[in-house]
Amino acid sequence: MYQKRTYPWMAVVTLALGLAAPAAGFDLAAWSRAVDHPTPGGTVELDGPLAVGSATLEPLQGCTVRELMANGERCGLLFAGPVKLTFTVADRFSVPVARRNLKRNTKIAPKRDDASGLEIVETLRSAVVWGFGLTGAPAAGEAATPGTLPEWVEKILDRPLFAPPSHDLAQAAFGGAAGMAVALLRAPKDTLLLRVDPTVDQLEELDLVMKIPPRDPVDHGRRYLLPVAAQPIGRQWWDRPGAPLMAVREELVVDNSGGGSRLEVTSESTVRALRAGAGLWRVALVDRTVSHREELPVEVRTVQVNGKPAPFLRQDGELLVRLDPPPPPGGTVTIRVIHDGHLALRPGGDSYWSLGTWAWYPQPAMNAELAEVDIRVVTPEDWIAFASGDTVSRETADGLTTLHTHVEGAAQFPVVAAGKYHVYSDTRNGITCNVATYVFGKEKAARLLIDFFFAAAKVYNEYFHVPYPYTEMDIVEINSWGWGQAPPGVIFITKEAFTPLADSLTQIFSQGINERIAHEMAHTWWGHVVKMDSTEEQWITESFAEYSAALFLEVAAGSRKKGKRLFTKLLNSWKGNTSMVGRGGSIYLGSYLAGESFEDRMDEVRLLYAKGPMVLHALRLELQKKYGQKQGDRYFIALLRAFLRNFEGRYGATRHLVGILDQITGESWQGWFERYVYGCEVPKL
Ligand SMILES: [Zn+2]
Repeated sequence: MYQKRTYPWMAVVTLALGLAAPAAGFDLAAWSRAVDHPTPGGTVELDGPLAVGSATLEPLQGCTVRELMANGERCGLLFAGPVKLTFTVADRFSVPVARRNLKRNTKIAPKRDDASGLEIVETLRSAVVWGFGLTGAPAAGEAATPGTLPEWVEKILDRPLFAPPSHDLAQAAFGGAAGMAVALLRAPKDTLLLRVDPTVDQLEELDLVMKIPPRDPVDHGRRYLLPVAAQPIGRQWWDRPGAPLMAVREELVVDNSGGGSRLEVTSESTVRALRAGAGLWRVALVDRTVSHREELPVEVRTVQVNGKPAPFLRQDGELLVRLDPPPPPGGTVTIRVIHDGHLALRPGGDSYWSLGTWAWYPQPAMNAELAEVDIRVVTPEDWIAFASGDTVSRETADGLTTLHTHVEGAAQFPVVAAGKYHVYSDTRNGITCNVATYVFGKEKAARLLIDFFFAAAKVYNEYFHVPYPYTEMDIVEINSWGWGQAPPGVIFITKEAFTPLADSLTQIFSQGINERIAHEMAHTWWGHVVKMDSTEEQWITESFAEYSAALFLEVAAGSRKKGKRLFTKLLNSWKGNTSMVGRGGSIYLGSYLAGESFEDRMDEVRLLYAKGPMVLHALRLELQKKYGQKQGDRYFIALLRAFLRNFEGRYGATRHLVGILDQITGESWQGWFERYVYGCEVPKL
């Protein structure tokens, strides 16, 4: 099955796949393998250039086009020999990002770059296109002589760090996603991957295929993707379609009863069909962990749909499960998955582990999970577990403790952690804040954090008119430096938050620690009360949390003057960081910056954490300018409140924000957002 793969644990995975598939009569893994390694068959005559999304492929002299066969049907075309690629970026918001990525990351210069868009023309050495229903009739009288895929293609598809073509084609074949196509394009100096998805995300992406360098002891040689260009298909960027299947309930059992790094996860996901023909559940699922430069397997033991074994494929970071027949629109199915592996790794030999916002359970796409969540965590009794949601029970028997938590309503990104912790708690107005300090009791710091939490919750409630939505908050110390994460009802934050000014290293990281904690707390509103459905909408969580933190610090400073000074200091740092953003700096499309160099990565951060909050402040000033300081400020706060209230427990998007603002002011704000949020302009303050 994975004969090219040399990792010994793959044999076990193979066995797991092989056992489960025949029971359901259809082998999705075998189907997918055939699609990723199709057999070149007879030659094909094209009427003209082949259109794949916004690209065309035109065979040049010496190029033979052959059909690619898998599972008894044509799944694509092979262009063996020189072929002319033309790719057009016409979307006006996509163009500046593509221009920047091309310049910084490829050796490709656009042939045309004017008001109508940007055009790439390259003579490729060869190309492979996957897709059902591609045009081109078989040449008459030609006998098919089976061949093999070019070696460069096989190398790219040998354990890629991205989903291989078969995953998209499975969505086309079983998930009702017509028109999916994937192309590997070999330019003289760069290799490109084009992904065309006209149905599910209505998006096309052109990426650069990159190779992990030899210095990476685990993944060297494997391929990953860097974005070159992305543009919506048949829609505007801001009109993102909903997912075909929505997870509405997650029951997660995390079993670490052995106490070591082995951990078993049983998940029962109830998903609702939102479209007809949604016969494929496609989610992310971790396929390995890495410890001491060694890859450790994560094995899928069971996949059942409504209690019966179902065909599935677990490969390259994804789990695909066939739902046959597809649930009718509005109908639900329950998918049960059991997997295990060394998921409870302890960083640096520490006495804690965490299952964070990564795919430790079958994790739907960002726009496909609004779930009521129940989590049960089993650990040895001397370990204390934390999980998203409010505690239902914590019981100890036979040396094991079981924690049961529940998140009411609609949650994303549930997390679990356990370790040797000291817990300090306080309950005020029906809300309990637990602060867990790692190994050592740090009561003074913990009490400060508890006060900080209640103070922030009060200020945010007063600003936004939406109370803290859970009855519990766990603030858990992570034994590292310089980061924080805020899944529902839990904040993971590194140790500088617990040892204020203890030593010089702490001091370095503590600069702005209050601001960081206030930011993480604000994610309850910007992230959990209102949710983001895509990386494009990430500014709704990050930039709004950052701006909220500034609002809190301004109020909490003690005096008006001190508060104003603090706010101005933050505003100036946003301005400074925004001025460092290079070309193509769209807040909305920041995740499509190629991200290879330090500057690219920094720009994505600057867009979300500096330009975003700065643009929000610019909006506030613009409202003040137009409607007077008092009325303008009222409108600004009314906008935040209405957005949170209207989209409580749902996906809130920039287009909704614009709609609400139009309603409040009676004027159109689309143009303003096109300049500063969707586009690259920087407002002058
Ligand atoms: Zn954040």
